[in-house]
Amino acid sequence: MPELLKPDICVIGAGAGGLSVAAAAAAFGASVVLVEKGEMGGDCLNTGCVPSKSLIAAAKHARAIARAASFGLSAQPPEVDFGKIHKHVHDVIAAIEPNDSKERFTGLGVRVIEGSARFKNRKTVTVGAGIEIRARRFVIATGSSPSLPPIPGLATTPHLTNETVFELTERPEHLVVIGAGPVGLELAQAFHRLGAAVTVLEAAQPLAHEDPECVRAVLDQLTREGVDLRSPVEVVRVEATESKIAVVVRDAGGEQTILGSHLLVATGRRANTEELGLKEARVTANERGILVDEGLKTANKRVYAVGDVVGDLQFTHVANYHAGLVVRHALFRLPVRVDHDSIPWVTFTEPELAQVGLTEAEARKRNHKIRVLRWPYHENDRAQAERATRGHIKVVTTRRGRILGATIVGMNAGELIATWTLAISQRLNIRALAGSVVAYPTLAEVGKRAAITYFTGSLTSPLVRRIIVWLRRLG
Ligand SMILES: Cc1cc2nc3c(=O)[nH]c(=O)nc-3n(C[C@H](O)[C@H](O)[C@H](O)COP(=O)(O)OP(=O)(O)OC[C@H]3O[C@@H](n4cnc5c(N)ncnc54)[C@H](O)[C@@H]3O)c2cc1C
Repeated sequence: MPELLKPDICVIGAGAGGLSVAAAAAAFGASVVLVEKGEMGGDCLNTGCVPSKSLIAAAKHARAIARAASFGLSAQPPEVDFGKIHKHVHDVIAAIEPNDSKERFTGLGVRVIEGSARFKNRKTVTVGAGIEIRARRFVIATGSSPSLPPIPGLATTPHLTNETVFELTERPEHLVVIGAGPVGLELAQAFHRLGAAVTVLEAAQPLAHEDPECVRAVLDQLTREGVDLRSPVEVVRVEATESKIAVVVRDAGGEQTILGSHLLVATGRRANTEELGLKEARVTANERGILVDEGLKTANKRVYAVGDVVGDLQFTHVANYHAGLVVRHALFRLPVRVDHDSIPWVTFTEPELAQVGLTEAEARKRNHKIRVLRWPYHENDRAQAERATRGHIKVVTTRRGRILGATIVGMNAGELIATWTLAISQRLNIRALAGSVVAYPTLAEVGKRAAITYFTGSLTSPLVRRIIVWLRRLG
């Protein structure tokens, strides 16, 4: 007979979303079972955010050494010991790991089960033959995996994905990256800064979901640094030769073969739903992920889904946000509604590219009558001091000044976007930003200066000019 568990909540998947649900529900006194088939911490800790940002940090230091002369310092070009970089990346994972560990969650009162969870029916999940879980509520938080495109030869050609690239202990001589989304470009720049030759192949537009004007600043920088970025280009086939990987591409100029030492596939994600027994659970899904209502409930009202498996905005902070909503609803019956309008995201290239709210194109599509405010980094004293003058902020407001969106491309854009996230979530008017005092010299002044242009821009309006003339006449 299998062991039968009857917790308040059963969470499937111990990544960002699942761990947040489990920790919060346990803190509120619910009985929680958490099932994980792989490593605690999921993608973010083991094969996503943490290793990628650690690699990027190493690459940033290499770049700083290479640019030392601009600051009056002499330094030899850095010697890259990729074995040590591998150690740095895995030391960072190890430092964060205890927060996500089985021991910590067991200490919080969560029953952690190692194994693959599968629905047997609408009310029951099994883990192997030994455990049955009949919970009051289930939360599917099984994340996503790399989605591999149907390129002829790919299945039989050695290739890396985010699941294997951080295991490299030797620097690739020539890394060919298929896919110029955030993951592809972040890793392309990092590997190039660490001394690899890098070619990026993109079938459509690089960073296609971002504001094109700001994307240009990122692509210019990558190209200036020496990344060979090709788009649009079709990958016709790939094959392993004796010592290289041959990638046959076709663009307007015809077919060409690129010989790389390593191939990295970064062409998007697919939701992890296959092993769950969704049919038995009466949970529906499409090719993007599990279908949920605005409160993250699936077609089976006992079952919620959070994070990447929902297939919407696939970020760690979104998984955490979903988790908070589900806990509020499942435990306290509070009404909740997912609102992605004020969720920021960042591409951690250098310059960073950060977005919150609507882009200019989205605002126009929604028929908003808008104002677009900009301010360049090169007009900012701190950016000059840091020699980080490439980039700008672009703010989209309604005609009356309500802030609809902000895009920042430049140094620390990921930090600076927080102000605009708050402004949008609180439905602030640009007046609030223009009137706030910002410390000098900080990059945050870029945002304030953009906000002020909302008003100075109107000095060119004929009506305002007439009023000024009239006021002057009055004396
Ligand atoms: C290279 C890379 C860099 C990234 N960088 C960032 C970044 O900088 N910032 C950011 O916000 N996001 C980033 N992301 C995205 C981020 O990693 C994900 O959005 C986040 O991990 C999603 O969390 P999750 O809980 O939905 O899923 P996951 O973290 O993937 O966790 C799902 C867990 O479920 C388990 N599981 C699956 N099926 C079963 C089953 N049947 N039974 C039991 N367990 C199961 C899996 O083993 C896994 O541990 C990055 C992603 C990648 C690939």
